This record gives sequence, structure tokens and C-alpha cells, in this order.
Amino acid sequence: MQGEQYLFVVSGPSGVGKDSVMAHLRAAHPEIEKTVSATTRSPRPGEAEGVNYYYRTEEEFKRLIDAGEVLEYNYFNGHYYGTLRAEVEKRIAAGKLVLLNIDVHGAANIKRLYPGATIIFLLPPSAAELEARLRGRGTDSEESIQQRLAIAREELARAGEFDLQIVNSTIEQAAGELYDVMVRRAGLA
Ligand code: 5GP
Repeated sequence: MQGEQYLFVVSGPSGVGKDSVMAHLRAAHPEIEKTVSATTRSPRPGEAEGVNYYYRTEEEFKRLIDAGEVLEYNYFNGHYYGTLRAEVEKRIAAGKLVLLNIDVHGAANIKRLYPGATIIFLLPPSAAELEARLRGRGTDSEESIQQRLAIAREELARAGEFDLQIVNSTIEQAAGELYDVMVRRAGLA
């Protein structure tokens, strides 16, 4: 559809720093929009409805899928996560830069639906650094950390399927590289 070149996806293993990089980028460039996904997981402390996610019951989530309102979704760690079609399409049709933060499977789905979109893989400086970051977050149980690490290993193996990769050595550097890529590929540079 028209405006696909304004659509970008950042993906990468849990704990790699996608949220921090995106927060930094958006603070510097508020015109870059992030859509809010729907999920069936509960809010973490500090998270809010409509800001971090739209929190929905499984029944409500399935109703959204049946109605064709969910562009892509994934079942991750016991919960559904999905991108809402309206959140994306209303923005790119209006010529706004949109940056999605979704997992590796979701990114591949977006590329299939919108071939003109750019999918970007955020890499950790090393595997050891990724584990340290996941533990440092302090919000997840050991079981959840082990599950996330196992998923991370599978996801890292797919980095080559993305249009490009950015190493998150520091938040500032990764956000800067991401911004350069976006303005160039959207034709705004
Ligand atoms: P968390 O529970 O840490 O917020 O998110 C868990 C995983 O779900 C992360 O890898 C995150 O990128 C992914 N995720 C969040 N929203 C979506 C979405 O809309 N679609 C897909 N496929 N994955 C998502």
C-alpha cells in the first residue's frame, strides 16, 4: 500500500535493548511514531493501558483476530502479542514514520504484507552481554530468563534474514544509526 517506505520494524532478542533505543530515538525525534500493540499479558509495574500495550483478555484478543484487526501476532512465553492494523495503516497513509518493535516472526510477517517496509535486527555486542542485560532488568523470574535466553538464541540465528543489522553497543550510537537508516530509506534525507 501507499506509504510502505515509512514503515520500519526493529526486532531482536528480548533484553537486547529495543525499548531503550526506541525511547532514545523518539525523545530526539518525536515525529517517529511507535504503534501500541495488543497483548494478553498483565501490565508490569509502571506500564499503562494504551501507552505500553492495549491489555486484552484472550477472548477479546481472539475476537480482534477474527475481525481482521490484527496484522500479525505471536504467542510468546504464554501470552499473545499482536500489531493492530489500524495503528499502522492510519499513520503510513498519512506519511508519518512508523517504527514497530516486534519479535523476529512478527517482523517477517510485516515484510510479507508490506514489501516496501524495512526490517532491522538489533544485535547485542555479545551473547554474554545479552544475558547480563536480561538479568539486570530484575523484572523476570529465573524460569522466565531461561526461556527468554533459549528464544534469544533461536532469534539471533535469523539476523541475516533482515534488511540490515545494527549493533547496540550504546543506546546513543544505535539510535543514531537507526535514525540515519530511516530518513535515508524513507527518502527524507
Ligand atoms: P514483553 O513481554 O517483554 O513486553 O514482550 C515480549 C516479546 O513480545 C518481545 O520480544 C516483544 O518484542 C514482542 N512483542 C511485543 N509486541 C508485539 C507484537 O505486536 N507482535 C509480535 N509478534 N511481538 C510483539
